[in-house]
Amino acid sequence: MIATATAVVMFVSISIYLGTMTSLACMGKGGTPRADDNTIFSPSYIVARHKFLESAQKTGSNIHSIRHPDSGPNDEPLYIDVAYYGSSDDTRALVILSGTHGVEGFAGSAIQTGALLDGITTRLPSGTSLIMIHALNPYGMAHIRRFTEGNVDLNRNFRNHSSTPPDNLEYNALANAIAPSSISFRSEVISWGRMIGFILTQGKTAFQKAVSSGQYAHPSGLFYGSRQNTWSNDTLRTLVQRYLYNRSRVVIIDVHTGLGARGNAEIIKGNLCMVRLLCHRLT
Ligand SMILES: [Zn+2]
Repeated sequence: MIATATAVVMFVSISIYLGTMTSLACMGKGGTPRADDNTIFSPSYIVARHKFLESAQKTGSNIHSIRHPDSGPNDEPLYIDVAYYGSSDDTRALVILSGTHGVEGFAGSAIQTGALLDGITTRLPSGTSLIMIHALNPYGMAHIRRFTEGNVDLNRNFRNHSSTPPDNLEYNALANAIAPSSISFRSEVISWGRMIGFILTQGKTAFQKAVSSGQYAHPSGLFYGSRQNTWSNDTLRTLVQRYLYNRSRVVIIDVHTGLGARGNAEIIKGNLCMVRLLCHRLT
């Protein structure tokens, strides 16, 4: 949590390892699948968007859609959709984000839709607005990939790009092995050989850190943060200005998948890049 002169912002990232989408279908009390298990989960971005908008309309939320410049795999239009429930006089806000990492948006979307259908808007504390941001990275969600249209790992894109980005020397050393310029049996053998060699000499933890801690030097590589704002980054900044400028207290929940024990939520606090962005916008 970061306190500023006028606002308090808490940013929470929740990661849920759910296995397959059909098995994740929320369990009722005692682990018994509910009869309506599959209603909030979707096989595609388009279906997920439809379910989210429909559930938002049922709550009487105001809907705001921003068109993405690119299209989905079937040339369908892509959007970030915002469902806003509250009053401009509200001093507090709960923000729930889905799809920062594209394909992970299927779980986040289901949680948003499920929360709306479950009556979350009727249980908000007084003076609190609800802002649901659906598919922050709609390109990634529609194309079933983690990264944006520019191969950017979105949560590593929220930084001041006028300063020099952090270096990742270990990734640099392995860049051609992690993402070879061409795929062939020979390149596979060479890549695996170099990566195994790195693990044997530096250790598994060092390898994991080299690969997954992000990098800003290889645009076609993994976990690339980019040296300029993505469309999703700019759009989120616009939404922050529009919906959060007058709040004194904000809680943000950004839903991810992939970490933690299967079926459990793991709460990760302290994504300071995004917190700084929001605090900057609030003060
Ligand atoms: Zn994620």
